[in-house]
Amino acid sequence: MLRRALRFGLGPALLGRGLGTQREGSTLGKAEGSGGYRGSGVFSVSSHVTFRTRGPGPRWEDSGSLGAGAWDGKVSEIKKKIQSILPGGAWSPLCDTSHLPPEHSDVVIVGGGVLGLSVAYWLKRLEKQRGAIRVLVVERDHTYSQASTVLSVGGIRQQFSLPENIQLSLFSVEFLRNINEYLAVVDDPPLDLQFNPSGYLFLASEEGATIMENNVKVQRQEGAKVCLMSPEQLQKKFPWINTEGVALASYGLENEGWFDPWCLLQGLRRKVQSMGVLFCHGEVTRFVSSSNHMETASGEEVTLKRIHEVHVKVDHSQEYQPVECAIVVIAAGAWSGQIAELAGIGKGPPGTLQGTKLPVEPRKRYVYLWHCPHGPGLEAPLVADPSGAYFRREGLGNNYLGGYSPTEEEEPDPGNLEVDHEFFQEKVWPHLARRVPAFETLKVRHAWAGYYDYNTFDQNGVVGPHPLVVNMYFATGFSGHGLQQAPAAGRAVAEVMLEGRFQTIDLSPFLFSRFYLGEKAQEHCII
Ligand SMILES: Cc1cc2nc3c(=O)[nH]c(=O)nc-3n(C[C@H](O)[C@H](O)[C@H](O)COP(=O)(O)OP(=O)(O)OC[C@H]3O[C@@H](n4cnc5c(N)ncnc54)[C@H](O)[C@@H]3O)c2cc1C
Repeated sequence: MLRRALRFGLGPALLGRGLGTQREGSTLGKAEGSGGYRGSGVFSVSSHVTFRTRGPGPRWEDSGSLGAGAWDGKVSEIKKKIQSILPGGAWSPLCDTSHLPPEHSDVVIVGGGVLGLSVAYWLKRLEKQRGAIRVLVVERDHTYSQASTVLSVGGIRQQFSLPENIQLSLFSVEFLRNINEYLAVVDDPPLDLQFNPSGYLFLASEEGATIMENNVKVQRQEGAKVCLMSPEQLQKKFPWINTEGVALASYGLENEGWFDPWCLLQGLRRKVQSMGVLFCHGEVTRFVSSSNHMETASGEEVTLKRIHEVHVKVDHSQEYQPVECAIVVIAAGAWSGQIAELAGIGKGPPGTLQGTKLPVEPRKRYVYLWHCPHGPGLEAPLVADPSGAYFRREGLGNNYLGGYSPTEEEEPDPGNLEVDHEFFQEKVWPHLARRVPAFETLKVRHAWAGYYDYNTFDQNGVVGPHPLVVNMYFATGFSGHGLQQAPAAGRAVAEVMLEGRFQTIDLSPFLFSRFYLGEKAQEHCII
């Protein structure tokens, strides 16, 4: 019965999860949910979503009226005035608490990377009434030193095998092309994403040729412009490629390329702040929740949970600040699996929904940058070799960057982000030099490592609600394609939160329930 209910996917059943904290009198459908569950076998929660607004908190200004920046400015102005009146020098009667999170927020987003910010952006953009939803983004590292977003290689492509992935990227490219319409902030300079239009060139061996043909069929059906090339055509267009072992190639003619991830991140950050989203520099360390034990009509026991408070450990302090909330969004990138565990997800008997983990973990990926004066030159697309090696041009000075997708056995230890230069010698360079003979003489100039937010189940994103932790949502696990899909994925998650179902792109195959049901959303084009 539980499996059947989950297979129904999203509907009012799982989604009428209103906003409002416990203190304010919850509008979340826990009572209705518990009542309806036994009889019907589905979580019959009202599809009506109610928003509760609260007056401004003691330290933070409410969304939409006065931004956090303006509030900070006012506080320091008042402090200066008081200091100038009072006798004595250094003593301050007002302790600045602007670094602390607010005591309550309708939505708390864990992780301020591109996915967390995109969810925040779309929540504010789609809210029915300006300032109706208070959104807090909690980010533990404002330098983003380990965030996948800034360590990525910034690529966007339409060449996927799943229609959902193609649609996500198609919307995202439209978003990126019109970034200064979506993310414009009055009086701020326009963003320059450094978008570099260039196709992806996927190469297939005899073994992979049929899959490639099928993929391209799907891509074209979804509206992507992709052509297939024989080895002869390939040789003619890109004479620097050695076509040995290549049976077929697919090449993106439009809407593919790469851009500056940092610029997208900062653009989103700037925009959401102007929309009234609150930011807090701290680490989410705990969730306080209540449980409701129930039985399905077929006798299966289920425990529904609801989070009431998120504990945020503030930087440089042992203290934590509880934030009362109605909804939590997990957008913690490679660390999302750990955060889900904090909420008890996966801590149940194996084989049960309760015992099903969020299968997202850090996987280390190296990126090497090399110089090669006689390399492919300006016309070089992003080349994805059947071996798992890939490369693209970087800038205009005969530099290239690339890496290699390791097999399970070759996975580097994710314990730190140190670069292994042997890995290039042994795993990357031989494939590069075989495919592009000019790369025999390349010189590595720089390298870095970053974490894929790797979904070990099927390497695709996880979006939407958790079936048992009724006020927890996901926007994570996009593995190697989360940067490009963030604009569309954030919109999808916001739609589910606000409207109860996906409105623009149906991402039901990417719901958490697939992990329990064993239904993979298998993507064949993973780099
Ligand atoms: C080498 C490499 C190349 C890539 N290339 C591409 C590409 O070409 N195209 C593409 O689309 N994608 C690419 N990706 C993948 C892409 O970068 C990610 O899928 C995407 O950036 C994930 O965004 P995110 O916001 O989920 O994660 P992140 O950017 O990692 O953000 C998550 C944030 O959560 C914070 N956090 C974690 N735990 C907590 C906590 N407890 N409390 C508060 N904050 C917390 C972290 O500090 C982090 O800043 C690449 C990734 C790598 C590593």
